[in-house]
Amino acid sequence: MNIDDLPIRDELRGKSPYGAPQLDVPVQLNTNENPYPLPEPLVERIAERVREAARGLNRYPDRDAIELRTELAGYLTRTTGHTVGTANVWAANGSNEVIQQLLQTFGGPGRTAIGFEPSYSMHALISRGTGTSWISGPRNDDFTIDLTAAGRAIAEHRPDVVFITSPNNPTGTAVDADTVLALYTAAQAARPSLVVVDEAYVEFSHRPSLLALIEGRPNLVVSRTMSKAFGAAGLRLGYLAADPAVVDAVQLVRLPYHLSAVTQATALAALEHTDTLLGYVEQLKTERDRLVIELRAIGCEVTESDANFVQFGRFTDTHEAWQKILDRGVLVRDNGVPGWLRVTAGTPVENDAFLDAVRELMKEQSA
Ligand SMILES: *Cc1c(COP(=O)(O)O)cnc(C)c1O
Repeated sequence: MNIDDLPIRDELRGKSPYGAPQLDVPVQLNTNENPYPLPEPLVERIAERVREAARGLNRYPDRDAIELRTELAGYLTRTTGHTVGTANVWAANGSNEVIQQLLQTFGGPGRTAIGFEPSYSMHALISRGTGTSWISGPRNDDFTIDLTAAGRAIAEHRPDVVFITSPNNPTGTAVDADTVLALYTAAQAARPSLVVVDEAYVEFSHRPSLLALIEGRPNLVVSRTMSKAFGAAGLRLGYLAADPAVVDAVQLVRLPYHLSAVTQATALAALEHTDTLLGYVEQLKTERDRLVIELRAIGCEVTESDANFVQFGRFTDTHEAWQKILDRGVLVRDNGVPGWLRVTAGTPVENDAFLDAVRELMKEQSA
């Protein structure tokens, strides 16, 4: 039996699911995870809070996750200097679920979303999953957003949802506030549409967060995650900050009790250890900057990065380069950007292993 023999929706026929390879190799630098395991005192605190939560698992969890949203609002206020409250914040199982809820609410059949590609592939995939038509908007050759071309695409397609990823995945490039404001203005003139700024990597950026832009702009949403900077990809906790009306709107589509009591307890424990976790972020930023410098010294082209990963190239046969690095025990990511691969900043030892592998590859290619 083949999937396509099942009575599935037409637009899903012949499509592939999200599938970053989960291979068992010594050095895994392919999914932008944080390489540092959670510190032991935090592991203990999670166990404590989860034990407490376990005693109440006969009941449904707090459907509105009030305590967690309050703590997330506090974190955003402390780290960005822009005051947000509980009513501005909504949380779900990973920012992927946040994005899904936004698309269920603001996209859907007969509606359209746009992103500027190459960018995070899940924006297109979740659009498809929610029946939202996807438009691939343009970028410049250096992977920055071409404001004129982007504005033209918005005016032409009049999308219902606009995705701006900053820092962008897989390129690492960040977007400045003026660009977001120009795109927001263009999107409001074309339709009014919802503009989603995906800040999954913002804690690693040289630039400040764009969070303050939500003030007075009810159609602007900033999405965040604990998967990257908090080193908690396994937790599955993403959140958004926006006008309280947006939070009210996603209530229409969220599943009741979507965020388990165990997830809420674990996330609250992690937030108690924000300072330690953000300390790892500083180390990773240093390693990211080292990767950029050393890759250039080896002779690679590198895209300037504001994230915890680096896009490097260029290779005439990208897949072959990926395979040769893998043959040396290092898994990086081929995001399908012709000529370019992406490496996540790991521990210094992992990064050295990666740099050795690329050094050998470059020697081989120039020989
Ligand atoms: C990793 C990533 C996410 C995070 O997704 P989660 O579901 O929170 O793990 C969101 N957006 C972008 C651009 C990412 O790269």
